[in-house]
Amino acid sequence: MKTEIPRYDIIILGGGIAGSVMAISLKRKTPALTILIIERSIIFPNKVGESSAEMTGLFFNRFGIEHILKKQIPKAGLRFLFNEHNTFDPEKTDEFSSPSFKSIANGYHFNRQQFDEDLLAEAIKMGCEIRRPAEIIDFNYEKLNSLVRIKYEDKEAEFRATWLIDASGTERIVGKKMGWQDNTVTFDTAASLAHFENLRPITEWDKLQSDVWKNNAIGPQSQSTIHFLRHGCWWWHIVLNNNTTSIGVVYDKNILGTPDAEKFFNDYLENDELLKHITQGATRGAIKHLPKLPYLSKQLYNDGLVVIGDSAAFIDPLFSPGIEFICQQSINLTDLITDYFKNNKMNYRKWNRYQKVFLAAFSDRIKIYQDRYKLMGSYDLFSNWVQLDFFGYFCFTIFPSVVFPGRMKTPPRFLFPSNLVYKFVTNRYLKIAARRKLQGRLSTSLKKPVSYSHIAIPDGFTFYLKVPQLFFIWFINYMRIEMDEVGFMFFPKKK
Ligand SMILES: Cc1cc2nc3c(=O)[nH]c(=O)nc-3n(C[C@H](O)[C@H](O)[C@H](O)COP(=O)(O)OP(=O)(O)OC[C@H]3O[C@@H](n4cnc5c(N)ncnc54)[C@H](O)[C@@H]3O)c2cc1C
Repeated sequence: MKTEIPRYDIIILGGGIAGSVMAISLKRKTPALTILIIERSIIFPNKVGESSAEMTGLFFNRFGIEHILKKQIPKAGLRFLFNEHNTFDPEKTDEFSSPSFKSIANGYHFNRQQFDEDLLAEAIKMGCEIRRPAEIIDFNYEKLNSLVRIKYEDKEAEFRATWLIDASGTERIVGKKMGWQDNTVTFDTAASLAHFENLRPITEWDKLQSDVWKNNAIGPQSQSTIHFLRHGCWWWHIVLNNNTTSIGVVYDKNILGTPDAEKFFNDYLENDELLKHITQGATRGAIKHLPKLPYLSKQLYNDGLVVIGDSAAFIDPLFSPGIEFICQQSINLTDLITDYFKNNKMNYRKWNRYQKVFLAAFSDRIKIYQDRYKLMGSYDLFSNWVQLDFFGYFCFTIFPSVVFPGRMKTPPRFLFPSNLVYKFVTNRYLKIAARRKLQGRLSTSLKKPVSYSHIAIPDGFTFYLKVPQLFFIWFINYMRIEMDEVGFMFFPKKK
């Protein structure tokens, strides 16, 4: 006798952060949905994606996972440390700093192994079923009636679902099987990372904590996400607990070529005076290498089939964007999928809009990053560029999300005239950087050794003053850069 294939409303392929957040979001909105999650790992490994932006906290507030977040380390800020003189003297390493002020949403440093486990457990607690450890072998796509084959407890099993949600990360199960093409991305980065124990205490190599930091930030500067900016690459330093710190590098292969990953990682830590000072004598775990970071699927859905998280796209990790995108996708997809179950039909107008908006937002991120690595060594040019990003991020993401919470669902885009301003300023930065390189000049225009972004989400009226404040900080510093360039033309020897 043939047994009937078990059927679910939704099967989620992969139980990492995208799969779990999606399941939690769906269950919160429609508890009656039957959801099966299939996850390969017995326990999650350590993963990249260990820091979140403030905005991600706003999204997390919507998922009712405060009890899970409490176990993670609040992120005290974001710091960019430059080293144009290649020294470990803290007073000569310039810094563009962004302490996190107490606000309605703060960021975190995640122990991803623990965080992903807790999120998955929460999804199960809310009524999702799980097969784990289970391998997704294959699926047969049928419009709103797909069949999934898995290997579980040494046996093969089959399940049917109206919707398949691909949250398999870089395995990209759906995109590969369906033959969905990627957009061409010329920007080409790679990453290498390792966990370190017994690193030199941060107080031995860092600047003294400033009054600005002490009086405003929600935690010590040692608990911030630290980026060490260098020409063509940046290194992160994320404290995960008392013993363990994650250190990794992302580099632009168009600038630095394709070196042997492990050698590049070790040599850099030997030759950069500050990084050497920090890591010397520490115990390093295995180096993990990710040879190619950016990609973007041309398609994000079909009837009964959708990709989320890394299975859809990944552009660049500099501003900790992955989890924020996952939250935005989950909120949108929850509306679209529950709408399908309510009306028993696809609302193609809404689905197409979803796809258009997200594909455009990912493409815009490519524009943000593709020239960025050329300027990473320059304190004032890079900081000014980031200040412009922060101004845009505040105006087009934070501001509408706080004032019109419904707007929070859509990622911000580069629309006219902001795209023209961005293009103009980018060209100027690149020209100035090229000229300085020819003339052997370093940064001159920005206050040393520390300057502050002043980005925050304050309560009350001061929230509204943030827009002009952030604009003026960017604009005044931009004018300083330009004036220094003019000054150099007339008094070249003085610089
Ligand atoms: C260098 C780097 C640094 C980053 N830093 C940040 C950061 O600071 N902040 C941030 O927000 N984002 C960051 N990101 C992005 C972030 O890490 C990812 O966007 C996020 O982890 C993706 O989650 P996911 O659930 O889509 O994929 P994953 O976490 O990879 O989950 C996929 C799951 O699917 C399962 N799976 C896959 N195939 C199968 C199969 N055949 N059968 C069964 N199960 C399967 C896997 O076991 C896994 O658990 C970074 C990315 C990189 C590359």
